[in-house]
This record gives sequence, structure tokens and C-alpha cells, in this order.
Amino acid sequence: MSLVAYLDGQFLKKEEARISVFDRGVLYGDGVFEGIRAYNNRVFKLEQHIDRLYESAKAILLKIPIDKKEMAQIVLETLRRNNLREAYIRLVVTRGEGTDLSLDPRKCPKPTIFCIAAPLALFPSSLYEDGIEAVTASTRRNLNEATSPRIKSLNYLNNVLAKIEANLCNVPEAIMLSQDGYVTEATGENIFIVKKNRLITPPAHIGILEGITRNTVMDLAREENIVVQESLFTQFDLYNADECFLTGTAAEIMPVVKVDGRIINDGKPGPTTKILMKKFKQYVLTDGPFIFE
Ligand code: PMP
Repeated sequence: MSLVAYLDGQFLKKEEARISVFDRGVLYGDGVFEGIRAYNNRVFKLEQHIDRLYESAKAILLKIPIDKKEMAQIVLETLRRNNLREAYIRLVVTRGEGTDLSLDPRKCPKPTIFCIAAPLALFPSSLYEDGIEAVTASTRRNLNEATSPRIKSLNYLNNVLAKIEANLCNVPEAIMLSQDGYVTEATGENIFIVKKNRLITPPAHIGILEGITRNTVMDLAREENIVVQESLFTQFDLYNADECFLTGTAAEIMPVVKVDGRIINDGKPGPTTKILMKKFKQYVLTDGPFIFE
């Protein structure tokens, strides 16, 4: 199937959708993005994703020249033009081309906006059934005071470096610590532990991306009368957790059964994780605007 992409007001064939080599998204990672999922003919949490995109843009003083309604329509129309009801969507806004090659963002009159969508390459189901192994990376998560991890920016080198560490250890994921050694998140997912029937995840202010899946999972847990707590924890807490899982738009809820060689509890996805996985699977089918009426 030949895919179609939205780029600056036009829908173009994938092969023809090209941005400039002078675009600041390419030159400096100067831009913001969202990864979004469509399930069952609906765009899951579209409003929250668009809100986060505009918040990321505001944090880097990038003024998006269209409103949120129009942005949502771009996502829906991209899916329609590709005849996709189940998909992974990437929505990107860069600061565009500068009038010269200086770093000064005032010299960038027109942001670049593009949206691409494709059928999702799902993770193998065995990872969900058996859980995954992870390592803690020596690469620390970006400092809040430098580039806040709450900005979903095009500059993902911090996460890429941690992912390389996972690759070198032959495990699917790496967990990143804050500068002072608290657990923050994985390279592209948030992290949760369960301890004594409490669901614990690091607070956003520690320096994480405030995941939309994370927030959804917290809501679903509260519906199940599970105590949800946003608090700091360390590698020690992680190793001694009753359960551990990661959350993200692509990964959904992914059980973690081993960290740095320490087997979490009995080394199998735990009961709370399984309840939330089941609830999440049902819930995703029920949220978001319809793609085709
Ligand atoms: N943390 C990071 C660093 C991410 O890139 C992502 C998204 N891929 C997440 C967490 C999860 O966020 P969401 O649930 O909104 O996809």
C-alpha cells in the first residue's frame, strides 16, 4: 500500500513528502512531536496528545500557526487518506527553515508541520506473556534544568544513548535514572512498580515525559480501587518490587520481569499488571474521535 503524508497544508505520496535539509528539526532537533495510536477506527486520547504537543511547543517558544482543532483534523484526515483504522501516527512540528544558518530562533518565520501514519508493527505477543528484561543505563535522564524531559522534543539522543546500552546488553529496554539516582523512566516508556498492593510511578517533576498511557493506567487502576502513588523510588525498590511494568503508546503495558539480573518476584507478569493489561486492551477501543463515520 502506498502511504500518503501530510506536509504543510498538502497531502503527498510518501516518496514526495520531503522537508528541507535546512529545516531546524534536522539541523538541531528543534521541534516537537507526538506518537499517537488509532484503535478500532478511533484515535486514542487524541485531545490529550494535541494538548501535550502544544505544551511542548510552548515550552520551547515555538508558536504553532494553526489551532488545535485544525491539528486534530490533520491527524484524522491523514488516517482517512491512508484508509487506516488501526495505526501508529507521528505528528511533528519543527521550527522550520531559518533565513540563515545561525542558531537564533527568531530567524525562523514558518514552522514545518507534518503527519505520517502507518500500520503498526506490533511487539511479539511472547513479550507480553512472559515479560521483558531490562537494565539500568549509565546514561542519566536529561536534567530538568537543561532540556526538560517533559518536552517531547525531536532531540532524543539522551534516550537513544540509553537504548544503545540496552542493545549492548541484549535486552529490549533500558531504565534511566535521574541525576541523583532515582528511577525516572525507560527510553520510550514510563515505569511503574507494584509494592504491597500499591501502584507506584515517579512524579512528573522528577524529569520524565508525562505519558498519556501512564495517566490512563493510573485512572484505570483507581477504578479497580488500587492505591496509586506518584513517588520517587530507587533501583533497590525496583529490584524488590512485587511487580514492574512499562507503559507507552507503542508498547501499551509491558511487564518487566528482570532488571540488572535481579528477578522481579517470581519472574512472571504479576496479577495487578495482568488486570491492568486486560482493562487497557478493552478501554482503548472506546476512546477518541472516530476516523470514518
Ligand atoms: N517516556 C518517553 C521518553 C517517551 O518517549 C514516551 C513516548 N514514546 C513515553 C514515556 C510514554 O508516553 P505515552 O504514553 O504518551 O506514549
